[in-house]
Amino acid sequence: MKAAIIAGCVVLSVLSAPGAHAKSIKRECQIKLDAEQTKITNADEIKACIKGFWPTISDPKKGQWVINYPPPAEYDHPFAGILMIQRLSMDEITKICLKRRTGCALVVNTDRGVYIDHRFGNRAACIIIAANNADLQTQHALFKDVLRHETAHCNGWAQNHPGMEGKYEWVEK
Ligand SMILES: [Zn+2]
Repeated sequence: MKAAIIAGCVVLSVLSAPGAHAKSIKRECQIKLDAEQTKITNADEIKACIKGFWPTISDPKKGQWVINYPPPAEYDHPFAGILMIQRLSMDEITKICLKRRTGCALVVNTDRGVYIDHRFGNRAACIIIAANNADLQTQHALFKDVLRHETAHCNGWAQNHPGMEGKYEWVEK
């Protein structure tokens, strides 16, 4: 009897939830990058794609378009070693990550002394440098997405991002 009442409540809440259907729409626009992966090459295509989605968004203030560069499934898992995360401004990041970007990953190996190398070594630890929230906002990036991307580098995803599919996506706040 109790089970039947609970089941009844679940059905009712699904039917009455406002906007439940609208939320299920996946709004994504594919990003294409140049060979150096520094420039977006299909800006017009993205603009048109985003424009096409606006009529499906009832309240633009309730969400935002963010840029996400998720890793391939192979590297998309938690890091097994010791993970250290440091938030910095993008100006500070430039001094460590060599390029102005939202973050980078430094893989620490300890099998031949302590050294940082992305390709070889025991991957005992990884230091993820990620921009602070204010700077991420200017780059239309979310911390959780940067963390996921950089964790994949900790897991051995090459610096030139093989298999990466960048996208703009609408995220509800
Ligand atoms: Zn990367």
